[in-house]
Amino acid sequence: MIQYISTRGSKTKTSATQAIIRGLAQDKGLFMPTTIPKLPFALKNRIGESYQRIATDIIHCFFPDFSRSEIEYCVLNAYDDKFASEEIVPLHPVGQAHFLELYHGKTAAFKDMALSILPYLLTTATKKEGEKSKIAILTATSGDTGKAALEGFADVEGTEILVFYPDKGVSKMQQKQMVTQEGNNVHVYAIEGNFDDAQTGVKKIFNDEGFARELEEKGIKLSSANSINIGRLVPQVAYYIYGYLRLLEQRQIQLGQEINIVVPTGNFGNILAAYLAGQMGIPIGRYICASNENKVLTDFIDSGIYSTDRPFHLTNSPSMDILISSNLERLLFLLAQQDGTCVKELMEQLEQSGEYRLNENMKNGLGDFYGGFADEKQTRETIARLYRDHGYLVDTHTAVAYHVYDEYIKETGDTKPTLIASTASAYKFADSVNASIGANTQGDAQEQVKALHQKTGVTIPRGLANLDQKPVLHKDCIRADEMKATVNQALTGAKNNNL
Ligand SMILES: *Cc1c(COP(=O)(O)O)cnc(C)c1O
Repeated sequence: MIQYISTRGSKTKTSATQAIIRGLAQDKGLFMPTTIPKLPFALKNRIGESYQRIATDIIHCFFPDFSRSEIEYCVLNAYDDKFASEEIVPLHPVGQAHFLELYHGKTAAFKDMALSILPYLLTTATKKEGEKSKIAILTATSGDTGKAALEGFADVEGTEILVFYPDKGVSKMQQKQMVTQEGNNVHVYAIEGNFDDAQTGVKKIFNDEGFARELEEKGIKLSSANSINIGRLVPQVAYYIYGYLRLLEQRQIQLGQEINIVVPTGNFGNILAAYLAGQMGIPIGRYICASNENKVLTDFIDSGIYSTDRPFHLTNSPSMDILISSNLERLLFLLAQQDGTCVKELMEQLEQSGEYRLNENMKNGLGDFYGGFADEKQTRETIARLYRDHGYLVDTHTAVAYHVYDEYIKETGDTKPTLIASTASAYKFADSVNASIGANTQGDAQEQVKALHQKTGVTIPRGLANLDQKPVLHKDCIRADEMKATVNQALTGAKNNNL
């Protein structure tokens, strides 16, 4: 039976339930399955099946200590009419490229795919472990994760969700989405400072053992909805397998035919999920990793050298403005044939010097990947071109992916059918999209949304419409050094301290 081990070499094996509850391994490594399971079915037998059925089987083979019906319960509660599309992840063709639209959940970004199910996996896991404590999720966010975590955990029994965002580090739309969040167990705070201040504050609270004990005595356990939790990664594998099955169903490919997959990448979670789908047995040629001007991954794939010694750019695809891609550690673990000591060394080098170099063997393993990037102008031009030539509206992150897809074809001549992960609704980044297609760029977040709708007629996602009419429920702005007291009050004092 599959168990979980740390990427950093400690030999302790952990059950899937414990790995989901704990988030991070004791030695600070990430949890990985002891082996990658093979597809639990023959593809030809599952063509035309629902997203929910495919996802149940895929997630269950990674988490075998859950019963199938427990996983099914989680899947059916996560992927229901919260999603604007009955297919959950519809495909949209443009030539040989097929956009896998992962953004039809409540917050209009692909984070919903994992964060809709994580609360159910987590509460099911705690029940199985006989855990009586309430789980309090602490999350620092630079934008999309915070809102998706709020929507995922809102009113989920046995949980409280606390989100901290930098008061000047998120887009207007993202802030609006968070401060209007409803739910009896939700708490949202602006932090004076930047994302690092919020993130450091949250980490401090996690490392405060005295505070953890105090809370535990009151029946509260802290946990995280961060993308390093294996309970976020595994549900993402399912949509690549579903995507392959849909291509078969639409006769775009034949059984056994290879496809390529393009993923706009920040923390390396989404593309790693594609890689795991390939390891399970989906025939995949190339994993195409698309970055913005923060192209640390492009350079890494080209050279085998990971180096954060470079300027940090704020771009129009902010969810990929990242220099340390935490989930890359999991790929290193696989490339090193599960040699955790080797991974530990690389991670220590990164911490100490901002750089590490792969040995020849591991570097060869990167051959399945192709890295490319788009600058700001190329991103805007791609949005304009897809809209003008194909009538298809994409957001900035997806535009980065399409640009790199084009470059890849020019460079290699490889025109295999391709899945492109489409990670957000264009409305979520309406200001940049408006600027790209010549729509009105004046006004606040809501006016930008209206201008984009006027120009394109594309349906506005439910979660982004009428946000201006929703009451602001969360107005607290606190200093980073007030975070612990705030958490304490929220969890043990008055329940919903909206001011
Ligand atoms: C988070 C995010 C990404 C990057 O995904 P990773 O799994 O971190 O690589 C890309 N696009 C959007 C819209 C996102 O929110």
